[in-house]
Amino acid sequence: MNIIIALSYLLSSILFILGLKNLSSPKTARRGNQLAMSAMLIAIIVTLTKNEILDFTYIIIGLIIGSAIGVMIARKIQMTAMPQMVALFNGLGGGASALVALAEYHRLTGELRIDVIISMVVSLFIGAVTFTGSLVAFGKLQGLVRSAPVVFKAQRLLNILLFTLFLIMGIIVIINPANSTGLLIILVTALILGVLFVVPIGGADMPVVISMLNSCSGLAAAATGFVLSNNILIICGALVGASGFILTRIMCKAMNRSIANIIFGSVGTVAEKNSVNDKRKVISYTEEDALTMLETAQTVIIIPGYGLAVAQAQFALQELVKTLINKGINVRYAIHPVAGRMPGHMNVLLAEANVSYDLLFDLGDINDDFRHTDVALVVGANDVVNPSARADAESPLYGMPILNADQARIVIICKRSLSPGFSGVDNELFYQKKTLMIFGDAKESINKMIKLLKT
Ligand code: NAP
Repeated sequence: MNIIIALSYLLSSILFILGLKNLSSPKTARRGNQLAMSAMLIAIIVTLTKNEILDFTYIIIGLIIGSAIGVMIARKIQMTAMPQMVALFNGLGGGASALVALAEYHRLTGELRIDVIISMVVSLFIGAVTFTGSLVAFGKLQGLVRSAPVVFKAQRLLNILLFTLFLIMGIIVIINPANSTGLLIILVTALILGVLFVVPIGGADMPVVISMLNSCSGLAAAATGFVLSNNILIICGALVGASGFILTRIMCKAMNRSIANIIFGSVGTVAEKNSVNDKRKVISYTEEDALTMLETAQTVIIIPGYGLAVAQAQFALQELVKTLINKGINVRYAIHPVAGRMPGHMNVLLAEANVSYDLLFDLGDINDDFRHTDVALVVGANDVVNPSARADAESPLYGMPILNADQARIVIICKRSLSPGFSGVDNELFYQKKTLMIFGDAKESINKMIKLLKT
């Protein structure tokens, strides 16, 4: 029996790894998901048959409630709300690890081996930090908590004190596992630290935070695997931890920030600028004006952003692009790594509209071309084209590489108002002479252009 269980876990691990490999390209991502789902199914079935479970009642109740909630969320969730869902799932993963550690502590009291109690402390701490940190991230993304950094005096000192308290209590509990008060203090300290880690991080840096929390939820699960002596949990946790860490590094590179700079630097503590009180002039143009510019251009670069997802304008945009290409205009898409609200958001969105991969260009591959481009068409993007990231050392966006839309001869921006992007920073590009602001929902504006093209 044991050999069958071990082989099944091995098969499940191989499927998880193949799943991850397939997820690295949009073309094979669907297969990757299917492989990972089968791996999870095998892991669940084997685990349920492996342990001598005396009563399945609670497991069945949990499965029914969990599956019902999962199906409901999967059916109702909007593409634009996926990032906050991911944040919530990370948090639930961390919370589950912390709860399992507590349950095992309760079950095994008195007979804890040193390796098990160390794993429990680690699992409890990382799991609880991930839980509250992810809830704050969820709140920021959902608009329930201010996305701008929340900082106060002595914040860093408080973090250091709390972390030191955790280390001391951790050592005490490891030396004397019977000290349940110590474990409780670790739990409370970790819950507070989770909040304190995430509140000072500005909106624009959220991609890094989410991928970091994702990595933490994996590490917590791996530690729980050691508590339970469950190999598949250790392997899965390590895979999530490692892939989350790689994604964090990619996001840091995209934002041109170090992890330490994001966690300890209170990036973006500058007061937000408010465009409402601004004296600069913005001229509103019509869709007809924009179309004239597009039709007379030889080269056009499109910059999609979060607003494209909100407006669900990807299909209309692709129709416009096809028509322009048929007129002999060179049209390409420029994809910023943190455009939208989750890694690869724009790629997924444009893949939905069957945009050919040949038309998509990463920041590094297209940025130098803007200065030879006639029109930069910005659709629902804001932070990723904000020149303050280049020029204003006080800006929370400072240092983040942006798409050089402002270097094109003409810039057309489709958005509903002058409101800032996710970072809360005003965008100088709206006020430049070369910029045509087309105010309105992106889908409606693009549809108007298509209609005009057909008449
Ligand atoms: P953004 O800076 O958030 O700006 C999106 C713009 O879309 C808004 O200014 C909004 O302006 C406009 N918009 C919203 N609904 C619209 C509609 N129906 N039609 C037309 N426009 C609409 O977006 P971004 O340039 O893509 O930058 C992404 C930001 O999110 C970055 O700061 C990034 O760091 C952050 N972030 C990214 C991730 C990730 O993993 N990619 C995760 C979390 C956070 P109006 O309201 O005036 O229309």
